[in-house]
Amino acid sequence: MITPVLPTYARADLEFERGEGPYLFTAKGERYLDFGAGIAVNALGHAHPGLIAALTEQAQKVWHVSNIYKIPGQEKLARKLVEATFADTVFFTNSGAEALECAIKMARRYHFAGGNPERNELITFEGAFHGRTLATISAGGNKKYLEGFGPDMPGFVHLPFGDMKALEKAIGAATAGILIEPIQGEGGIRVLPNEDLRRIRALCDEAGILRVLDEVQTGFGRTGKLFAHELAGVTPDIMAVAKALGGGFPVGACLATENAARGMTVGTHGSTYGGNPLAMAVAGAAVELMVKEEFLAHVRDMGRSLRQKLAMIADQHPAIIEGVRGEALMLGIKCRITNTDLVQALRDEHLLTVGAGDNVVRLLPPLIIDETHLDEAVGKISRACVALEAKLANAPAKAAGGAA
Ligand SMILES: *Cc1c(COP(=O)(O)O)cnc(C)c1O
Repeated sequence: MITPVLPTYARADLEFERGEGPYLFTAKGERYLDFGAGIAVNALGHAHPGLIAALTEQAQKVWHVSNIYKIPGQEKLARKLVEATFADTVFFTNSGAEALECAIKMARRYHFAGGNPERNELITFEGAFHGRTLATISAGGNKKYLEGFGPDMPGFVHLPFGDMKALEKAIGAATAGILIEPIQGEGGIRVLPNEDLRRIRALCDEAGILRVLDEVQTGFGRTGKLFAHELAGVTPDIMAVAKALGGGFPVGACLATENAARGMTVGTHGSTYGGNPLAMAVAGAAVELMVKEEFLAHVRDMGRSLRQKLAMIADQHPAIIEGVRGEALMLGIKCRITNTDLVQALRDEHLLTVGAGDNVVRLLPPLIIDETHLDEAVGKISRACVALEAKLANAPAKAAGGAA
């Protein structure tokens, strides 16, 4: 019999009652160190006092008004994001996928407004993840997410990850822009080299097309810069963000230059909830903390330290770990064993992580962690590796049988 909750997730048998900083607690009081952070959402940790204050203060005033009225929290946060980034304008959404929907619509509309409606295709890289709406599963191109949901939405061209030659060839008369994650998250913490990111900017400028970035996972300090594209020193024309933006309150945004947004005139796009007063209160408080240079420097310090500690563990456990990759606190452990086995072994040690494509385990801790949390996590990872090695040693017959 089907469960009352639509069974689209293979859920772990774990439920949490409360959180505090980088920790989650079960009803029985068991403590877990949360290095998944709701998949890069709880960047400021759980139950951050500043975010609680912002939410409860707004909750006593007004929860929701339509976007047919002015929303001061929206104007304030948009101004803050415009000041801190390449962007001139911002549209607020409730999720990452909706931020991408806005980005995709904006890219098509840009060329429509310029008299080139035939330019409606976005070039993407395989392994991408942009969300679960019909347009974003087509943009991502992952067969697993598309199966049975056809017809696929046209307008997306998929190229092998990082294939710059194919990219140059693929740009044509129907191209609207190039849509990429600077570092693929779900795809397995696959980093595009900075020189490729710069080359993509140049290709877009030459062809008069738009550079659209999905920084839903990489955004707001995760990579040690406010946005990952700053690492390469080149800006996008349009950028989708979400996840860490609300620190756990559902909110996303599509940022753009004035030029890229030229087609988005009155009546062309909208959302009932997007940018509602509760979301703006929390995101406003979160962004104020995350744009601070000390905050970003702390992420870089913690990232460097965690990376070093993980490299040592990788050296000690070559049968389990092939390598470590990523940027600052967006790290991936490339596994020699099945990645889900490592996620489970870490969970047994009360460390929460997230699996990803390419047999990778993602470490996405809250950005407010300190050295003691890193040491605690590394101790747990080390013990999990020892436990997994013991299992490998106890199953030689099975391994031999499998090979034969
Ligand atoms: C999570 C994610 C999305 C989708 O965000 P939702 O809020 O789940 O719709 C899109 N792009 C990237 C890179 C993501 O990590």
